[in-house]
Amino acid sequence: MNIGVDHDRSSPGFVEKAPLERYVPPAKPSLVGLTRAQLAEALGTLGVPEGARKMRVQQLWHWIYVRGTTSFDAMSSVSKDLRARLETHYTLARPEVVAEQISVDGTRKWLLRLPGETVGERPHEVECVYIPDTDRATLCVSSQVGCTLNCTFCHTGTQRLVRNLTPGEIVGQVMVARDRLGDWHSSSHPPLKGEGRIANSDPGRGQEETPTRHASAVPAPAGDLPLAGGGKGRKITNIVMMGMGEPLYNFDNVRDALNIVADGEGISLSKRRITLSTSGVVPEIARTGDEIGCMLAISLHAVTDELRNELVPLNRKYPIADLLKACRDYPGVSNARRITFEYVMLKGVNDSLADAKALVRMLKGIPAKINLIPFNPWPGSRYECSDWEQIEKFSEVVFNAGYASPVRTPRGRDILAACGQLKSATEKLSARERMALRAMAMTE
Ligand code: SAH
Ligand code: SF4
Repeated sequence: MNIGVDHDRSSPGFVEKAPLERYVPPAKPSLVGLTRAQLAEALGTLGVPEGARKMRVQQLWHWIYVRGTTSFDAMSSVSKDLRARLETHYTLARPEVVAEQISVDGTRKWLLRLPGETVGERPHEVECVYIPDTDRATLCVSSQVGCTLNCTFCHTGTQRLVRNLTPGEIVGQVMVARDRLGDWHSSSHPPLKGEGRIANSDPGRGQEETPTRHASAVPAPAGDLPLAGGGKGRKITNIVMMGMGEPLYNFDNVRDALNIVADGEGISLSKRRITLSTSGVVPEIARTGDEIGCMLAISLHAVTDELRNELVPLNRKYPIADLLKACRDYPGVSNARRITFEYVMLKGVNDSLADAKALVRMLKGIPAKINLIPFNPWPGSRYECSDWEQIEKFSEVVFNAGYASPVRTPRGRDILAACGQLKSATEKLSARERMALRAMAMTE
């Protein structure tokens, strides 16, 4: 599908930046992020007869996604000869961790370096954030380096360097997080200091929430279900595609990556525990339900087209009415599988009580959750966060309309780790520290 790109950067409030940076694959690619079919194909090129490929794929899948294995040598169920051939042509590499920050509240942020287009240019970097809470622990994953869209309140939108992440780089964020958290099955990675496992105390399938005035933990993705695939005691219970980038502008790679993460014989995270957030790429919303089947979050942020055109310029292409229609028609939407509407609280811009009333009115009839997000300011941002009092009043209107826990508490503020405001201004580690960190992360 041709989404179309506005090349004219001089026009006021241009919708998209162009062009995308190109991805140059490494000479020796990683098996992480290949679909089962692609793995079978890779095995075929290594001379594995067709009849044996399915079984070999199954073995590799287990080593990669259940055990988190980082060397072919450790794959004891795979023949020595095949291990050697795999070693010659492939790696099990994940994105390189160049910095790790741990917030006082347990939030962790990893800065990851990815291969860039030209040697010597600024490296391609994304961030990935881990947000543990009492009943869940969420990993916030990026889909692009930067973002071609230009939402006026978003720091990622100001970054000029943009490229789509590969499925391996998207799945790789989950792999890195599990490496660093010692979260592999029978893992020999020791748990990190102060790291407890998250108990699974989720309500059952389809259970309705009771509205509560208490602020929920960040982020509050939809789908509170027991984990599939023996997920008891896992350190990552939920994934949100709310890091850098617009996931629906990188649809195929995001789809392949999320289907790998949800695969019942691998990482096995229930699709109800995976939430994809979009600024409103209407033509891709139905496919998201059909081909991924994850939970959906919509960055709404305004109740009129006039204001949304300014905050989320993509609204000029896909206005609110079209977006809400796509939500009503979202495959699988129901009261047990609600769509989350995100609403960033901007002082004096979108935070009046009239806005709150209009918000609940416009969502009538859509199985919805509402997340009010306190605006996270960044140097040079033109907005301020609404006063807490105003957020409370706004939230009361939303609450009285029957929506639970509408305010998302900012987390990891000391390390600038809020989802949607991921920054690369992280303190860089020295080369030696980086190597030590890498060794720790990569050693079995
Ligand atoms: N591109 C996608 C997903 C990444 S942004 C999207 O726009 O939905 C994830 C969420 O963070 C979005 O709801 C986005 O609007 C929000 N966000 C971006 N910048 C923010 C900021 N400075 N403060 C609070 N929320 C922000
Ligand atoms: Fe891109 Fe989302 Fe930021 Fe908008 S809010 S610029 S779509 S990352």
